[in-house]
Amino acid sequence: MTSSLATVSYIGATILFILSLGGLSNPETARRGNVFGIIGMAIAVLATVFGPRVTPGGYAWIIGALAVGGTIGLIAAKKVQMTQMPELVALMHSLVGLAACLVGFASYVDTSTVFPTEAEKSIHEMEIYIGILIGAVTFSGSVIAFGKLSGKIGGKPLLLPGRHWLNLVGLLIVIWFGREFLNAHGIQAGMTALVVMTVVALLFGVHMVMAIGGADMPVVVSMLNSYSGWAAAATGFMLSNDLLIVVGALVGSSGAILSYIMCRAMNRNFISVIAGGFGTGGGTPAAAGGVQPAGEVVPISAVETAELLRDAKNVVIVPGYGMAVAQAQHTVFEITKLLRDKGVNVRFGIHPVAGRMPGHMNVLLAEAKVPYDIVLEMDEINEDFPDTDVSMVIGANDIVNPSAQDDPASPIAGMPVLEVWRARTSIVMKRSMASGYAGVDNPLFYKDNNRMLFGDAKKMLDEVLVALRS
Ligand code: NDP
Repeated sequence: MTSSLATVSYIGATILFILSLGGLSNPETARRGNVFGIIGMAIAVLATVFGPRVTPGGYAWIIGALAVGGTIGLIAAKKVQMTQMPELVALMHSLVGLAACLVGFASYVDTSTVFPTEAEKSIHEMEIYIGILIGAVTFSGSVIAFGKLSGKIGGKPLLLPGRHWLNLVGLLIVIWFGREFLNAHGIQAGMTALVVMTVVALLFGVHMVMAIGGADMPVVVSMLNSYSGWAAAATGFMLSNDLLIVVGALVGSSGAILSYIMCRAMNRNFISVIAGGFGTGGGTPAAAGGVQPAGEVVPISAVETAELLRDAKNVVIVPGYGMAVAQAQHTVFEITKLLRDKGVNVRFGIHPVAGRMPGHMNVLLAEAKVPYDIVLEMDEINEDFPDTDVSMVIGANDIVNPSAQDDPASPIAGMPVLEVWRARTSIVMKRSMASGYAGVDNPLFYKDNNRMLFGDAKKMLDEVLVALRS
C-alpha cells in the first residue's frame, strides 16, 4: 500500500470514529455507532499492517500478535458476564497504559532513527517521557480499579496521612528526573531517570485509586478511560502515527467530558474526587453500630405487589445494580408490557451512576427491548414522582437514598437521587437490608409509604408476573 493510500485510509477511519462517537450518544443510534467504530478499526488495522512502514519481515510478528491478542479478546468477550463488564473495561484500560510504557521504552532503546536536529531529538525524548508517565499511571490505576470493581480489593478509601504531600513529592521527583532524562548523556543514564519516573508514576496510580471511596468509582472509571486515550495519543506521538494520535485524543477528550458529566451527576468537584475519600466500603450490613433511621421496615409479598401495580395508573420503575446481578431485565420487560396492555402508564427512571458503568441500565433495558421513549433520565422523571402511584425500585440502593438530600453528614450528601419516596407507594426489591456500593445506610427502607419485597430480583419479579397474569 502506498503512503498516500494509507493516509486516505487513516482519514476515512478517523471520520468513522467520529461518527461512531456521535452514534453512541443516543441509544437509538448506538448500534449504528458501534458498526461505524468496527469498520473504522478494521480499516485502521489493515492500513497500518499493509502500510509503508511495515517491512515484509514484520508480518510474521504481526500475524502472531493478532492471533494471540484476538483469541484472548474473543474468549474474554464470550465469557464475561454483563455484571463483569466494568472490570473488563478497567483491565482493557490497563493494557493501553502498559502498551504506552512498553512502546516508550522500546522507542528509547531503538537507536535506528536519526534526528536531523538536537531539538527534534529532545521533542522525541519528551514524548517518550510523558508517554511512559501517562501510561504507567493508567496501568497501575486501572489494575487497582479492576480490583475494586471486582471486589478483590475493598471499596474503603485508603487515606494515608499527608497523602497530598506524598503526591506533591511524587510530582517534584517526576519533574526533576524529567530534566535529568533530557540532559542525560548516553542511554544508561537516561534509562535510570526513566525507570525512577516509571516507579513513581506506578505508585501514584495505585495511591490515586486506592484513596477513592466506593461511591466515587464511576468518576474514576471514566477518568481512567480518558487517561487511556491520552496514553494512546502519547503512543501515537512516539510512533509518529497520526491515526493513533487522533483516536487517542478522541477517547481522551470524550472520557474527560464523561468524567465531567459524572461529577455533575453526583454533584462533586472533579478535584475533590481525585483527592479521594468519598464513600466507604460496599455491601456492609446497614447501620452497623450507627443510628438506626426512624420508622419501621414493612415487607410486602409478590402477590400484594402485583395488586398495587394492577390498580396503579402511573408506575415508575427504577433499576439498579441488583437488576443486573439478577439478570431480571427480561422479566421487567414482560411486566412492563403486561401493565401497558392494561392501560397503566409505565416509565423508567435512570440515574446517571446506576449499576457499575456509565449507561449500564440503558444497555440492559435495550437488550430486553424496552422501548426507548419510556426510559427517562433522572432529571426528566424526578418531578413526576408526586403524581406516581407506585415507584418500583429493582436492586437499586445508593441512587434512591434520601440521606443524600436530608443528611449533610452523609458520605453521599449532595448527590442527586431519584426521589422514589415521593410516589404514593414505593416498593424496594432486594435480598436483605444490606447497603449499596457506597456502604451508606438507606432511610428509604423505613419510610411509612415504603414496602420491601425481599428476595432475588429475578425470582420476585417472576412471582409478580405470575400473580399479574392470574
Ligand atoms: P447499589 O450498589 O447502591 O445497590 C445495589 C443493591 O442491589 C444492593 O443494595 C443489593 O442489596 C441489591 N442486589 C444485589 N444483588 C441482587 C439481586 N440478585 N436481587 C435483588 N437485589 C440485589 O446500586 P445502585 O445501582 O443503586 O447504585 C450504583 C452505585 O455504584 C453507586 O454508589 C455508584 O456510585 C457506584 N458505581 C457506579 C458506577 C457507574 O459507572 N455506574 C461505577 C462504579 C461504582 P442486597 O444485597 O440486599 O440484595
